[in-house]
Amino acid sequence: MNDPRSRLPPVNDLVTEARAAGIDSATRGELVAAIRSVLEDARAVGGSSPALGWVPTIEQRLNEASRLSLRRVINATGVVLHTNLGRAPLAVLARQAMEQAAGYSTLEYDLEVGERGSRHDHSRDLLRDLTGADDALVVNKAARALLLVLHAFGANGESIVSRGELVEIGGAFRIPDILARSGTALIEVGTTNRTRIRDYELAISPRTKLFLKVHRSNFSVRGFTSEATVEELVELGSAREIPTVHDAGSGLLMSLDDVGLRGEPLVTESVKAGATTVFSGDKLLGGPQCGIVVGRAAAMATVASNPLARALRPDKMVLAALEATLTLYRDPERARRDVPILSMLTADPAVLKRRARRLAKRIPGSSTIAGQSAVGGGAFPTAELPTTLVVVQVDSAERALALLRRGNPPIIARTLEDTIAFDPRTIRDEEFPQVAAAAIAVMEQTRR
Ligand SMILES: *Cc1c(COP(=O)(O)O)cnc(C)c1O
Repeated sequence: MNDPRSRLPPVNDLVTEARAAGIDSATRGELVAAIRSVLEDARAVGGSSPALGWVPTIEQRLNEASRLSLRRVINATGVVLHTNLGRAPLAVLARQAMEQAAGYSTLEYDLEVGERGSRHDHSRDLLRDLTGADDALVVNKAARALLLVLHAFGANGESIVSRGELVEIGGAFRIPDILARSGTALIEVGTTNRTRIRDYELAISPRTKLFLKVHRSNFSVRGFTSEATVEELVELGSAREIPTVHDAGSGLLMSLDDVGLRGEPLVTESVKAGATTVFSGDKLLGGPQCGIVVGRAAAMATVASNPLARALRPDKMVLAALEATLTLYRDPERARRDVPILSMLTADPAVLKRRARRLAKRIPGSSTIAGQSAVGGGAFPTAELPTTLVVVQVDSAERALALLRRGNPPIIARTLEDTIAFDPRTIRDEEFPQVAAAAIAVMEQTRR
């Protein structure tokens, strides 16, 4: 009972003390993490309080984190899936799951039998339930998932692709290059704007190994256009045992039609049609960076037994975050609330307006105007997301942006004519004080 370790101060008391001492550049989550790590150290040395005292030690710990090269920033741009800022911010549950997995975990351990288990089991049932597929495999990047599937089905043969779908996604990810790397010969059919199912049929040869359909994630074609559907391709291929692979890009797990976001393929539909479907974990799904393959049992067995599958395995942090994110999708309402990507995309414009006004009230001299946010990340390329921006007048917008980037935490904002703009869609409420303080400081420093 006299163990000094049991007399360590509670986390909440230390949070209050730290705030009272003026530590306000950290969010509550960061502060709690720093406090936990300081308490852990204290426990390890038998429960004595740190030599510097609690608050200075906590402050030191926070500074260490802010000196790392890969660190938190505030995304004030309104670009929801900002690839350079790490695409999808993770749900709280996913962050907790990563924290757990960071130590020893059940990554490849079956607690029932006390023996080796499979890392692929953690998300498999969830993915089956959520997509309707027989089986699922997770690898560490969607581009690599496509490489794997194309190699598994198409190596040493021909793959038929529409000329309208030979796209570049970003970061020099080009469909013709991926096909070349996977050892399959590209057979182009149709034209840039129109490709019919008949074009695929005429291109079939004894060497045909697959049809590839690629979602045009980051641009749209309008006017005199047509394309073969996944259903048509699967039907054409099934008589000849030619599999259809669908690179669905983002891969929506639930429709966002009701908020006006249309045109991204639903994974469930492509699975139902019978295609082996590849999609990204950190785009609209809102999880960690990974690539997910789902499909029929026989096709998935071919994919999973390909030697590349092992080389592309995801690590424990990714699997932990993915399972937690998918768990939220079991209840669609909860997913929309707790998966940050979904809650930001479906945010009510009236709520954004109220939040913008609240932020503006903290920044004397600022004003609010109607504006647009962007989905980003190569999804819904033409979508318009109405928002309300908080704008501040500065003498040099360039200089103001640079000052914001150099702050702690760094803030990434954008310019709008000669003002700088903050979009509340991608800023969390708890970040408002930090944004306001930085905006005020920048207005003072750029004033002549
Ligand atoms: C984004 C995307 C990819 C690549 O996904 P990563 O997650 O960047 O690996 C592949 N195909 C399409 C159609 C995409 O939109």
